Amino acid sequence: MDKASAGAVSDLIMSNPIDAVAFFNCHNLRYLCGFTGTDGVLLAWQDGAQFLTDSRYVSQAREQVAATEVREYQTKLEGVTEALVSAGIKRVGFDADVLTYSQVEQLRKHAKGRLEWVALGKAVQRLRCRKTVAEADQLAAAARLAAQVFQSVVSEIRPGQTEIQLARDLEVALLQAGGEEKAFDFIVASGVRGALPHGVASPKQLSEGELVTIDYGVRLNGYYSDETVTLALGNIPSKMREIFDIVLTAHDRALDRLRPGMKLSELDACARDYIAAKGYGDYFGHGLGHGVGLEVHEFPAVSPRSEDVVEEGMVLTIEPGIYLPGEGGVRIEDMVYVTADGGRILTELPKHYRNLLS
Ligand code: ZN
Ligand code: ZN
Repeated sequence: MDKASAGAVSDLIMSNPIDAVAFFNCHNLRYLCGFTGTDGVLLAWQDGAQFLTDSRYVSQAREQVAATEVREYQTKLEGVTEALVSAGIKRVGFDADVLTYSQVEQLRKHAKGRLEWVALGKAVQRLRCRKTVAEADQLAAAARLAAQVFQSVVSEIRPGQTEIQLARDLEVALLQAGGEEKAFDFIVASGVRGALPHGVASPKQLSEGELVTIDYGVRLNGYYSDETVTLALGNIPSKMREIFDIVLTAHDRALDRLRPGMKLSELDACARDYIAAKGYGDYFGHGLGHGVGLEVHEFPAVSPRSEDVVEEGMVLTIEPGIYLPGEGGVRIEDMVYVTADGGRILTELPKHYRNLLS
């Protein structure tokens, strides 16, 4: 672990009733100690740390996990238990969003009363929420690749093509351009399907006179992009144009007003109140956005129910939408890095109204 990671772990230990933390989440492992494999456990306490993994990953871990002792286990949960007991640990925190109930039960069983396992929820989720400039640059690089590839695919979008074809073309082009993995199953929702906020690409054909919402992203060097554009294929009904303009204004308002120190729920309200004032409040059912980093969706959520505050260094999506059942919908999404006086937009595609057939 580097100094920053050790400091973050130390704060976690000081602010919870624990002497050590066991990190099981592979994204946290990459973040804290540089390990890029998919299975391992980092045990960290105030004056020490151990990285445990199985035989598949031992050499990789010895290369990647600088300054931390690497040990091999035969059986993961027993190995973790024995390492903690030998280090004299009594109370150990764990990332509660990763272990299953039965894994925790097994850990407690192996410990035979020698260890107390303490579930850590938001405290661990918060670890990665403030990004360094270097991390923001990685996210921007993923978004740049996504935008470049999108621009090459968008010129091919034509009525008659299916949503699935478009999603596949985009995915293949992203991987050919050096992307590591698609960020999620791409949403391509055209015409009436635009009313589905999570309308994963279907066999429906794109038609002239429709809007098409495309929500996609790519992983590059471990970091994800996440971006949504809504494009017109020819002339669309005036109501669809109306909701496009409302969503775009709502999106711009949230970006303009973004400041560290404001509540996440206030940021959500910047867009939500505008959409409601225009009469479409019932048709924007999801939160305004979410954190993005080593996971596509990570802490914090930007929603009316968020209890946390916008902090400098967070990378958030701003993605308002209006979804009219039976008619269609619009969503527009950008990623923004929170700076001292506002935000730096990391995504690059233009968001203004575009008619692809004009
Ligand atoms: Zn998205
Ligand atoms: Zn998103």
